[in-house]
Amino acid sequence: RKVLIGGGTGFIGGNLGDLLTHKGYNVTNVARMPGANNISWTNLERSGLPKSCAVVNLAGQQFMDFTKAWTPGFKQNVQNSRVFTTQALANAINKAEEKPKVFIVLTGVGAYEPSELNRYDETSPTTGHDFFSRLTVEWEKAAHVDPPVRLVIIRSGAVLGRWGGMIKNMFMPFYLGLGGRIGTGKQYLPWIHIDDLTRLILFAIENENVKGILNGVAPDVITNDDFTQSFAKALRRPALIPVPERLLNFLLDPERAMIMTKGQHVTPKRVLQYGFKYNYPRIDVACQEFAHLCPKK
Ligand code: NDP
Repeated sequence: RKVLIGGGTGFIGGNLGDLLTHKGYNVTNVARMPGANNISWTNLERSGLPKSCAVVNLAGQQFMDFTKAWTPGFKQNVQNSRVFTTQALANAINKAEEKPKVFIVLTGVGAYEPSELNRYDETSPTTGHDFFSRLTVEWEKAAHVDPPVRLVIIRSGAVLGRWGGMIKNMFMPFYLGLGGRIGTGKQYLPWIHIDDLTRLILFAIENENVKGILNGVAPDVITNDDFTQSFAKALRRPALIPVPERLLNFLLDPERAMIMTKGQHVTPKRVLQYGFKYNYPRIDVACQEFAHLCPKK
């Protein structure tokens, strides 16, 4: 049983690879650098899809990279690294004689327009109103595969895990008591624990009835302020230093900063209908798990 993962070397990919290996799957990554379990994107295009029961795409240039200016060239890279990799895997699947059973693409809740009023589930429309939602529309279009391959698109919220993504970046300021809400703190913060996200991907691989769009978010809908309070409480620190929205707009560009300064109220209606059980449905329980300084033995 082999699973091919585009971007399998990253934060989510590494965690998914560990879970799948633990469950007895063989994992191969499609990556830009050589490695023991890696094939290259060129190799995928030239030699076709290695025989796999499932293909997952988790590739994408990090856009919250503070060292990279939000230039047209960088935005292009953010876009292409998601759309072209998804397209390359979909093409390889469509051309393969022995097809995988499922193609899973992880996109984002940025598909939905940020709002404090709207309520979104998987049936809500994506309007292409800003850079991230237009990108997501293109990204999801690129995922088209012919039946009988099942297509599962997981629109993920911020993926919370101690050793990657948002928590890794915020740990030190919060640990030093320098944390605080972002802007008004009233913006929604769709989120999911990394363990639940990788388990949801496994669930989609193993359950043949799962297909279509899934919102990869926890059922506990929270705001940025709720997160700030829970994380600070778990670390036993105050969180009294808000980050002004104007500062982030200045440092990151408003178009990119909106990922932090704005948010969407998103529920995982279809995920719950399929009967998926979350290990971390609540933010306070998840934050308790992030409160350690060193990796657990
Ligand atoms: P990471 O940055 O940790 O990993 C991304 C992977 O993408 C890397 O392993 C890298 O693989 C590959 N990659 C980076 N740039 C390029 C490029 N220009 N061309 C091809 N491949 C590239 O990200 P995450 O694991 O956190 O996220 C994975 C995916 O999930 C991304 O698409 C992201 O948008 C999406 N997502 C993440 C969320 C989060 O909170 N982390 C939330 C919602 C969606 P290599 O260097 O080996 O080629």
